[in-house]
Amino acid sequence: MMGKLLADKNILVMGVANKRSIAWAIAVALKEAGANLAFTYQGERFKDKVAKLVEGLAPEAPLFPCDVSSETELNSLAESVGNRWSTMHGLVHSLAFAKREELTGMFTDTSREGFLLAQEISAYSLVAITQRLHHLFKEGGSIITLTFLGSQRVVPNYNVMGVAKASLEASVRYLASDLGPKGIRVNALSAGPIKTVSAKGVSDFNRMLDGMEEKTPLRRLVPAEEVAGPALFLLSDLATAVTGDILYADGGYHIMGV
Ligand code: NAD
Repeated sequence: MMGKLLADKNILVMGVANKRSIAWAIAVALKEAGANLAFTYQGERFKDKVAKLVEGLAPEAPLFPCDVSSETELNSLAESVGNRWSTMHGLVHSLAFAKREELTGMFTDTSREGFLLAQEISAYSLVAITQRLHHLFKEGGSIITLTFLGSQRVVPNYNVMGVAKASLEASVRYLASDLGPKGIRVNALSAGPIKTVSAKGVSDFNRMLDGMEEKTPLRRLVPAEEVAGPALFLLSDLATAVTGDILYADGGYHIMGV
């Protein structure tokens, strides 16, 4: 009989805020597939909620603070993960941020500060984390990040986050090229719209969902639990030939013209 897909794989999950987080749905599937998990949380505000969730899923999993805007926290995360695992195999980067006022109205009105902040948290953070952790991927491995179609097409109000996601997707390609010789794969998973705390920050998010089902080849929206399947695939040895790619988990919405 085949063993579990991710047995003995050490995977760090970043981006759980609550049980609706895409990172959480992925973590649940990773656990089921036999992975050893570790988690990060953004700051004290999130600590108790994330700790409670983790306690119910994987009580043995360590929990590390990491606000990606802090070099100090990034450095101590790398140290803590290295102390816990001499070798790691996977990283889930499922985090992004833009100011609410940038996620409404005209992109033309984007502020310098809002632009840079979205880039820093939503795109550069993948580079900053990969830079600090790749030496722990001694047997190769897989890094995934979460992106959205707003990187490629104009999605009303997504604005500065669309540009940050374009930067994130380009970063995936550059990181994949750098780390390929070490057997480390880097891919992005492009999810369809899902009602999470982050999504609520985008003005008129619910209106965006109106009529989407009829325009989607599968005629339905995709829940976070179904984004977890492709995440598992990318993190597993089933995907050893896949790197630098964007895999869509959106019911096929992105293929449509009109
Ligand atoms: P979420 O709000 O549950 O998760 C976002 C996470 O980002 C939170 O855990 C938050 O703590 C973290 N974060 C924000 N700023 C941070 C910082 N400075 N340091 C560390 N962590 C920080 O929302 P989600 O929808 O699960 O978002 C996860 C990822 O999925 C994001 O990259 C998002 O852009 C992407 N995504 C979401 C959708 C959607 O419709 N919800 C669609 C496609 C892609």
